[in-house]
Amino acid sequence: MKAEGRITDVPGIGKKSAAELSSLGIRTLRDMVLFPPRSYDDRREERNLSDTTPDNPSIACRITVISHSQFPSKRSGMTLKATCMDDDGRRLELLCFNRPFMKDMLKLGSSWYITASAVERNRNGIYSTASFELKRTKEEAGIGRILPVYPLTGSITEKMLRNASAYAIDALSPFADELPYDLYGKLSLMHHDDAYRCIHYPGNDEDIKEARRTLAFTELMLMELSILRGKGTTRKSPGKESAAERKLISSLPFRLTADQLAAASEIRADLDSGQPMNRLLQGDVGSGKTLVAWIAALHEIQKGNQVAFMAPTELLARQHAEGAAELLASSGIRIAFLTGNVKGQGRRLLLESLKDGTTDLVVGTHALFSEDVAFKRLKLVIIDEQHRFGVQQREALRNKGIDASILSMTATPIPRTLALTLFADLDVSTLHTMPSGRIPIKTYLVSDRNRESMYKSIAVEFQRGHQAYFVYPRIDDEGESDLRDVTHMHDELEAKYPGIPSALIHSKLPEEEKIRILHDFREKKIMYLVATSVVEVGIDIPDATCMVIEHADIFGLAALHQLRGRVGRSILPSYCFLVFSQNLSVEAKARLSVMKETTDGFRIAEKDLEIRGPGEMAGDKQSGFLRLRFASLTSDLDLIENARIEAERIARDDPGLLSIGNAPLRIALKEQN
Ligand code: ADP
Ligand code: MG
Repeated sequence: MKAEGRITDVPGIGKKSAAELSSLGIRTLRDMVLFPPRSYDDRREERNLSDTTPDNPSIACRITVISHSQFPSKRSGMTLKATCMDDDGRRLELLCFNRPFMKDMLKLGSSWYITASAVERNRNGIYSTASFELKRTKEEAGIGRILPVYPLTGSITEKMLRNASAYAIDALSPFADELPYDLYGKLSLMHHDDAYRCIHYPGNDEDIKEARRTLAFTELMLMELSILRGKGTTRKSPGKESAAERKLISSLPFRLTADQLAAASEIRADLDSGQPMNRLLQGDVGSGKTLVAWIAALHEIQKGNQVAFMAPTELLARQHAEGAAELLASSGIRIAFLTGNVKGQGRRLLLESLKDGTTDLVVGTHALFSEDVAFKRLKLVIIDEQHRFGVQQREALRNKGIDASILSMTATPIPRTLALTLFADLDVSTLHTMPSGRIPIKTYLVSDRNRESMYKSIAVEFQRGHQAYFVYPRIDDEGESDLRDVTHMHDELEAKYPGIPSALIHSKLPEEEKIRILHDFREKKIMYLVATSVVEVGIDIPDATCMVIEHADIFGLAALHQLRGRVGRSILPSYCFLVFSQNLSVEAKARLSVMKETTDGFRIAEKDLEIRGPGEMAGDKQSGFLRLRFASLTSDLDLIENARIEAERIARDDPGLLSIGNAPLRIALKEQN
């Protein structure tokens, strides 16, 4: 696009409007061209008074002034009422509050083209409006055209923005193409000169669609290119598994799934590539990510390096440390466990062993990135349930190594559109398939009033020797809200299930107490837990078959999915009860029906994106990335995939964008920064 003109170049836009426009991101004429309408006002057809309906009370037609009258208005001044007639002979009263001077303009017998978005009709069939625009000609009134409708702010009006966009298009056109020539034909895109004109002033609906598609594709393409060029696209050869890894894999009582094998091999290739890895391992709850992580750890440790494994809670860290000891100790690996509760002499010795390299693998909580923790040669950082950690926490741990690789694991899958754009700087391995033999969890939505039958079916599960979780949002409500809490419900459930041993568990209990309770639950000395969402992550009890979540409507989709994932972890059939109260919000209804509909974490993530929008979902990712003007991360998967494919091809064949064909991209990227 041509050199910048300032927005104040537009006649009628002064300093005050310019300040308001800058809050919409419009400072230059180019910004104005890139400012997409939020919708359109279709004035292709003339609309007379008789065309108005309650749904569409707008008009765009010719009128003639037939009489005037004036009356005092409530505030100071006089109101002018000008009675007009459209070409069908219907009457319209124009109300000009405090503008009696309009009388001079609205001469009797004069004709005007009027546009008004809301015309009212009284009982006598007379139409009136106080908000309208009058023009001398059809063209000036925009009749016969589709006009843009922009989002507004402050005292900025539609009219000002329409003026500004028309002016900017005039001043900056013709617009040069921004993509390599061959892509236009290949993907049936509009040339950019047409696209920029049509996005503001389309001739028909098809124009709007095609212009948006072209501009969205361009925007995505530039985004992908800038990410890919930063990342580099070297091809890696598949990594080789060592004898120790082979031994570990063959010692397992089950076979790895094909996805687990593929992920392990992708990770090995990264670890051996000489460049730090930044890979996300995503896979649904129970898909077996941990094992892949241990294989990666073993691979790195055999090269003489150290590995740190970080989990979000002490319970989970402990479970992982025990798992690691069972699997890896026989390979001669020295394992340590570090949390905030490891103190005194024990802690001092442990820290020394990390510093002098006698510990190969340390498993722990965020205590791993305390200041006093130093490593000899930390090369791989594994982060379980990575969405539980902030960016700073992850970085702090990574910075304890030199060029350390990161393997992040998550059971909250990233929808494909986000993975391809916002997370394009990450490599992603995915475990799609579950270990064999699992039965899908049955999910029931239970209205508050129907809870008795739910309690009965859980009693049947207890008789079969199966276990249950009851989850509530609060520890102790003390009358603050009318939510059920664990403390009160524990009493109620004990009365309901006399003689069945149970325990209360929540974040305020001391760590040793929680560990003891979970141990007893695993040993079946406890048959059900009454819990807050502390049981959300990681806990693995095969005989627990029932999950009750009360006030399910106030939990987010990711949390519901995680909680449900605590059951269905063996070959037993299992059940999830989502209890909700009346008066659900639209969003809460949507969330619950998604949970009922599917147990597939990927589907749930897609739905979450639709319901919450990308800003919320991407969490701590730079929000600047999200300022897509034309493309949508919820609905443009096809475009995003195409943009990725083309960007990868170009970044590979011509990373410097030096060829003549790629020059427009080079220029556009430069302009962006
Ligand atoms: P997540 O991906 O949720 O972290 P885990 O790694 O905790 O899942 O694995 C869940 C359970 O499945 C564990 O008990 C683990 O030993 C088991 N598991 C892992 N891989 C397989 C497999 N290929 N076949 C059968 N069971 C497996
Ligand atoms: Mg896990």
